Amino acid sequence: MGMGKRIWAHRSRARVMALLLAAAASAPAWAREGVEVGERSVFADMFSADQIEQQATLQYQQTLKTAADHRALAPVDNAQVRRLRAIAQKIIPLAGEWNERARQWKWEVNLIGSNQINAFCMPGGKIVFYTGILKTLELSDDEVAMVMGHEIAHALREHARERMGKNTVTTGAARIGGALLSGWLGIDPRLTDTVAQQGANLLTLKFGREDESEADLVGMELAARAGFDPRAGVSLWQKMGAANKGAPPQWLSTHPSGDTRIAEIEANLPKVMPLYERARQAKAADKTP
Ligand SMILES: [Zn+2]
Repeated sequence: MGMGKRIWAHRSRARVMALLLAAAASAPAWAREGVEVGERSVFADMFSADQIEQQATLQYQQTLKTAADHRALAPVDNAQVRRLRAIAQKIIPLAGEWNERARQWKWEVNLIGSNQINAFCMPGGKIVFYTGILKTLELSDDEVAMVMGHEIAHALREHARERMGKNTVTTGAARIGGALLSGWLGIDPRLTDTVAQQGANLLTLKFGREDESEADLVGMELAARAGFDPRAGVSLWQKMGAANKGAPPQWLSTHPSGDTRIAEIEANLPKVMPLYERARQAKAADKTP
């Protein structure tokens, strides 16, 4: 390559870069309605979403099988299963905006008969509610939508994937990344690293405060856009707090309740109430003959 050509290439690259920067500056990153959350964590990139979703599917199937073996898996015609699936059907179409992959997920919603006050959504859109959370807290549809939105938000924001990456880094296990991953995914039975075992159980994964806050915000936006009253987030956490005074609910062991949480939800209501009002008006207009 001659000198002149090289300089041209260099200038051309600089020009493209300048154009990109200008484009980025003219389109504000948060020019959207609704809640604001931080950038996706770099830790999430340590493991592939594909593998984690496959692992989650296996664990989900195992959970359903165990429940079925104990005659604790609610049948499809169960009224509460229908109710949960109807609520999920309104939220799921909105998930793609937060995670492109979610448009291809094979979503599942099931109910397990157990007094546990618990619910989860695994990576890949695999949702379970326990009868305990519905019965003990006497959840309204709006409150169910808040729990569901919160759990779906964890999956959409890939908090499990991020947590696995973080665990790997903090334990210095990244050096054996490949082997550790196969251990987590149950491929290599010889691997008995405790971290690997922690990572393997996507059901008992405990998220950090930041992830919890993010799931609250994204969850309440999803629920609001789906036509559920986001103010139910406040009553939900009040109920959780009250239930905690008896036997501590399972959900609270991974989801610490408290005034800070409720205050943050309240502070964000003005961002999502207009979305809820609009969804409600659209529904009302639909019903008008
Ligand atoms: Zn959570």
